[in-house]
Amino acid sequence: MSVVRIHDPRFARLMIGHANLEKLWTGGRWLEGPAYFPAGRYLVFSDIPNDRLLRFDEMSGQVSVFWPGCGFHNGHARDQQGRLVCCEHLARVVSRIEHDGSRRVLASHWQGKRFNSPNDVIVAPDGAIWFSDPTYGIDGDYEGEKAESEIGASNVYRLDPETGAVEAVVTDRVKPNGLALAPGGQFLVVADTGRTHRPELDATLTRYRLDAEGRPIQPGETFATLADGFFDGFRFDAEGNLWSSAGRFVHCHGPDGALGLTIEIGEIVGNLCFGGAKGNRLFICAQTSLYSLFVNARGAT
Ligand code: MG
Repeated sequence: MSVVRIHDPRFARLMIGHANLEKLWTGGRWLEGPAYFPAGRYLVFSDIPNDRLLRFDEMSGQVSVFWPGCGFHNGHARDQQGRLVCCEHLARVVSRIEHDGSRRVLASHWQGKRFNSPNDVIVAPDGAIWFSDPTYGIDGDYEGEKAESEIGASNVYRLDPETGAVEAVVTDRVKPNGLALAPGGQFLVVADTGRTHRPELDATLTRYRLDAEGRPIQPGETFATLADGFFDGFRFDAEGNLWSSAGRFVHCHGPDGALGLTIEIGEIVGNLCFGGAKGNRLFICAQTSLYSLFVNARGAT
């Protein structure tokens, strides 16, 4: 498979030799926010500039508009109850679609100030919702609505969905973006796309050890850097390998950060997630198109 390059021979086993990168759909402007729902065998994803949510039905192979005019959603996560947790650029909130279909805003402010534009979100094993809040949804009108930042910084927050309490847990990034907790819960990794605003910066993934209360210890340590493009959204597999968007590629890094393999997608990758009946199908949101690749790894749960 010519699109795959193995950088470390130990990672070759993660690829299936005769599995092809599949282009499932095209026609978006900037795809993001994939979340897979095993109960219905479908993937929800965002087409941010077109202000819509799309759904890929794994059984029929069809993509349909799930929610037109959703309010410029970006990242999504599925919580333990199978509900969709949403980052909304336009309303500048984190919300959740309840089992009855209604939308509930979970968090809109920190210390009395509106969020910038929640970007990516995860649900921790304890049910807490962690999300990044860079300014991309308020920098202009393409992916939301232009506005000034009230907070004046771009942080990662932890939201307690029971109490609604919001705490800033990572405050040392320029534009925190994708995020994930390593399986086992000892580390948080955060992508920083701050180079969009400060060209002198590296595109990085930063790893934070968690303290006894499960909060990140700052400063973190650099886990990986990227010369060309950005790390945006990413996920861990069950063995602790990190699969990340990386410019026009997907990179797979080992638990120590070493680059194991790269998969050329050919469009700028915004985000990815594992799905499929066995959690071994990588769904890749890349600029205008949705791709998938079966791999010899399962997504961390
Ligand atoms: Mg993102």
